[in-house]
Amino acid sequence: MPELPEVETVVRSINQSLKSNYIKTLNIFNDKLRWKIDPYTKTIASKAQINNIYRRGKHIIFHLDKGFLIIHLGMTGIIRYSETKSYFSKEKHDHYEIILKDNSKLIYNDVRKFGSLHWTDDIDKHFLIENLGVEPLSNDFNYDYLKNIAKKRDVAIKNLIMNQNIVVGVGNIYASEALYMSGIRPNRKSKYVTINDCKKLVQSIKKVLLKSIKSGGTTLKDFVSTDGKLGYFKQKLLIYNKDVTRCGQKVKVVKIGGRSSFFCPKCQK
Ligand SMILES: [Zn+2]
Repeated sequence: MPELPEVETVVRSINQSLKSNYIKTLNIFNDKLRWKIDPYTKTIASKAQINNIYRRGKHIIFHLDKGFLIIHLGMTGIIRYSETKSYFSKEKHDHYEIILKDNSKLIYNDVRKFGSLHWTDDIDKHFLIENLGVEPLSNDFNYDYLKNIAKKRDVAIKNLIMNQNIVVGVGNIYASEALYMSGIRPNRKSKYVTINDCKKLVQSIKKVLLKSIKSGGTTLKDFVSTDGKLGYFKQKLLIYNKDVTRCGQKVKVVKIGGRSSFFCPKCQK
């Protein structure tokens, strides 16, 4: 499943690949994704100027001269880029394509169809966007912000940092890794997490996400290319799914919010 670093890499890759910023046509082959694609999306997004393309949470946003396109990759979404004019064969599970002025194309492929495509004229009020928490790599995500929320909550710190309404993009793997790097046990109650812990945790979350984005950068070509497939990152992990920690302890596993949470019984308090 694509996580924030993969989506960030896709956005950077699209921005580097596109040579035209004018959409000639949006063609929808199959509108039955997680939400049915509104037929109006084709009308409004055809003959549109792209102002910029950016990421919000795990959403890819095309800011057009007429509103916004919101793309979510779901579980298995892939975006291919074709810059040739020549016939580009449609593949199984291709659901829509964006044809640009120079006839290059972005093609959306999704085997499990959990992805989505929406258009809106007010991005901040859209139901997929309006309740999203702060961006983890922005300055809004800092220890003051985290501490202020944590001190009022009676939930496990791991659940708190995975809550998309508080901070976006910290999935199960990143949460486990960041808590390990910070020496905080995943099931510790948020209200007992100190200001110093919050400093370490915020730093670790940024670090683990940036590391993943960086490793994605080296495989950028594989994400959006003429015949490329998006390959989700294989990462070097410290604690997630490991048997033994670096300090030689047997890794403990607890279920928190139904998710497996890995920790070192010696280093994480
Ligand atoms: Zn340890």
